[in-house]
Amino acid sequence: MTTRFALIVFIFILAACNNAPVGEAELVLTNGFVYSLSWGDPAGDGMPAIDAPFEDGIWYPDGEAIYISGDRIMYVGTNEDALAQARENVQVIDLHGATVIPGAIESHGHVHELGEHHEQLDLLDINDRSEIIDMVVERAASVPAGEWIIGWGWDEGAWANDLPNWDALNERVPDHPVVLKGRRGFGAWANKRAILAAGFANDSDNPDGGELVRDSNGDLTGVLLNNAVDALYDAIPEQTLDQRKRILLFGLDEMAASGYVAAHHAGVRSDYMPAYDALAGSGELPIRTHLMLAVVADNRDLTDIYLASGPTTDLSAFLQVRGIKAYYDGSLGSRGAQLLADYADMPGSRGVSGSEYGFDTQVVEDLIAAGFQAGVHAIGDAGNRAVLDFYEDLYSRHPEARALNHRIEHAQVVHPDDFKRFAELNVAASMEPGHAVEDSPWAEDRLGAERVKGAYAWRTMRENGITVIFNSDYSGTDHSLFYGLFAAMTRKSAGGQPPGGWYPEQAMTPEEALRAYTVWPASVSGILEQTGTIEAGKWADLTILSIDPLNIDFSGDIGGGVVGGGIGISPSELLEGEIVMTIVAGKIVYQR
Ligand SMILES: [Zn+2]
Repeated sequence: MTTRFALIVFIFILAACNNAPVGEAELVLTNGFVYSLSWGDPAGDGMPAIDAPFEDGIWYPDGEAIYISGDRIMYVGTNEDALAQARENVQVIDLHGATVIPGAIESHGHVHELGEHHEQLDLLDINDRSEIIDMVVERAASVPAGEWIIGWGWDEGAWANDLPNWDALNERVPDHPVVLKGRRGFGAWANKRAILAAGFANDSDNPDGGELVRDSNGDLTGVLLNNAVDALYDAIPEQTLDQRKRILLFGLDEMAASGYVAAHHAGVRSDYMPAYDALAGSGELPIRTHLMLAVVADNRDLTDIYLASGPTTDLSAFLQVRGIKAYYDGSLGSRGAQLLADYADMPGSRGVSGSEYGFDTQVVEDLIAAGFQAGVHAIGDAGNRAVLDFYEDLYSRHPEARALNHRIEHAQVVHPDDFKRFAELNVAASMEPGHAVEDSPWAEDRLGAERVKGAYAWRTMRENGITVIFNSDYSGTDHSLFYGLFAAMTRKSAGGQPPGGWYPEQAMTPEEALRAYTVWPASVSGILEQTGTIEAGKWADLTILSIDPLNIDFSGDIGGGVVGGGIGISPSELLEGEIVMTIVAGKIVYQR
């Protein structure tokens, strides 16, 4: 590290004076490779700013140590000066050359899904029934009697001619209702307690369109097919507040372990809101949470409450309710995204959108007028155009709303005429690097050779001055920061497909990819004065990585845009990166 740091050309030494409040916990991180990102944004083609610590294709850290007092960064610079300023009881952590970046922000995900999947037994691809029963027995040992045990993923299609039965479940798990959902949605395997709770008995008739599977004696076997599963699933009680808190905490802890200091929850409904409030009230939120309330008909009770109260005003509170999520069109894969012209692979079809998709213009406008930032899901080129039209029209009545940095979620397919409108209307494109590479095998089939050029078009967006923020939309895709950076820089899937990258001219540079997870989402959330870069006075929110994500050696490979340099790790080594530590408001919330 010492020799590495001796090469450093750019060190920004800040004023050395200790004005930290006495009595706060103090932390000094030493021997780090600190990229503060406090220099200017790169140009539209990706070329780093003139004040960036970048020379001859090589990035240099602009600090080796960070001094933290309480929840604030006090100093960024040399080991010597950081240690000189700290008080006596400071905790010193030697980073041994790990890379420090501004705290990463996951700007679009579904926190509860991680927890819900974790609570369900994952039965996918398990072919041995006794193994499944053992899993249920093991789970039952840690769940209070009477609480339902839910699993998902056994294959009712593959097992159709040799269905399982409830005998072992009844015998070994008598005290818990058990429901094991089939992966294809038409079969369920349950124990007697669950079946009785659903109102079925040995003399029950088959429900319309459904079947209670019976043995040769005519007795129930614990397997339900087709519409019969609905009554069983309806009998599963609503989660308790404690369960929902546990589910959210699991998701947020997973975010912390994945290097994120903040998670934006896209589409919060009234079911999970009390759990967020409870976790915030007891100080249990491990990272900052930025909620986007779902604007859908069955969530009006919740949005009406916030319409009356207005958005969170204390920006440093860990629970922020300043956003809303609305839904304009469907997805590209299912041909639900609204296109200006027919789907290339389904003539006559242009998708669904707008009011037929549940977009309530008036409710969204009212919430924006009350000060909420909107994130509107739009995928097709017609969907994106319509949402841009919506914002433009709204600004004519509420000019002050422009300053809220509204977002379009996914912004996957944009007509060439509409790119510049994002910047003109101050609308950020909230996009998923993982979606681009995962959709690449079929996206061109849907769009054709010409339209696909405006799809997942990050470079075109940057050239048009659009603020791009990156996220994973988990649990739909892998929320690993390293996977996101890799996909953004290479336009390749984790498996390396396609080998040349998918429309690699749209790749981000390493710096742009990093900014889309740090500086830019902080800016879009209106908190760049508080976070997003590593600077004295800002929140002590930091992500520490085992690898240097800026110096990537693209020689012999594709990607990296204009700055594809010749030193550092290979692109695929990004995928082997690890989170060393996550620090939020000066507290270590994850350590490898
Ligand atoms: Zn989503």
